Amino acid sequence: MMMQPLSAEILLAVWEAHWRQPPLHQGLALLAAASPDERPEALLALPIGAFNASLLTLYADCFGATFTAVTTCTGCGELIEATLDVASLCASHNDPPPWLEVVDDAGAVRFRSPTLGDLLAAGEATSLNAAEQTILARCLETSTRSLSPATLAAVTDAMEHADPLAVIELDGACPHCQRPWSAALDVATFVWRQVHQWAQRTLQEIHLLARAYGWREDEILRLSAGRRQAYLQMIYG
Ligand SMILES: [Zn+2]
Repeated sequence: MMMQPLSAEILLAVWEAHWRQPPLHQGLALLAAASPDERPEALLALPIGAFNASLLTLYADCFGATFTAVTTCTGCGELIEATLDVASLCASHNDPPPWLEVVDDAGAVRFRSPTLGDLLAAGEATSLNAAEQTILARCLETSTRSLSPATLAAVTDAMEHADPLAVIELDGACPHCQRPWSAALDVATFVWRQVHQWAQRTLQEIHLLARAYGWREDEILRLSAGRRQAYLQMIYG
C-alpha cells in the first residue's frame, strides 16, 4: 500500500474527528488519510498483519523509527521499558495466501486470514464468543458443517501462522530481577496514543505561539516542528 506522509494539519484533523472512536476505527482513519487514493474497501480487505505493519510505518514516518513499549514486571513490579525498531518489527511481515486449508476426518476446510473488516465486524459483537463466531462465519469458505474443537484450533493456528504480524508478542527479561516477560502489542491503540499525545503537545504549542505572536492556527501548523521549537525557545527559554 502506498502511503504519503501526513502533514501536521491533516494529522490534527484526523485526531479531532476520531478521538472518541474505538482504536480500530482510529487506525483505519489514519491509514485512509495517509493513502487518499485507496478505496475504503481496499483498506477493509487488509489482512490484520498488513494493517499493523502499515500503522507502524505511519508511526515511523510521523514520530521516528523506534518506539518504547512499557510494561510492568510480574515478578518485582518494576516498570520495564523496551525500545523497538519499527523496521525490524515489520521485517517478519508477509501477506497471507488468499486461501488456507486444514484437513480433518470429514474432509478439507478452506478459509482465509481475517482482515481489518472482519475485526471491525467482530467488534460489534457483544461477547468474545460471538466475536469469534463472526470472524469464523466471514472467513470460512463454507460453513455447511460444524467444526470440532480440534479442527477449530487448527484453523486458528493456521490463520496466525499465515499472518505473523496479526498478533505481535514482545518479550524479554526484566533488567531488575531477570524474570522473563511477554506482552502483546496492540498496534492501533499504541499508535493512536502517540497521535493523541502529539496532538496535545501541538495544541499547547499553537496556544503559546498564537498568544506570543498573534499568528493564526493554520500558519503555526505549517511551521516545521523544529522551527516551532526554535520560536518557543526564544519566548520561554
Ligand atoms: Zn522484575
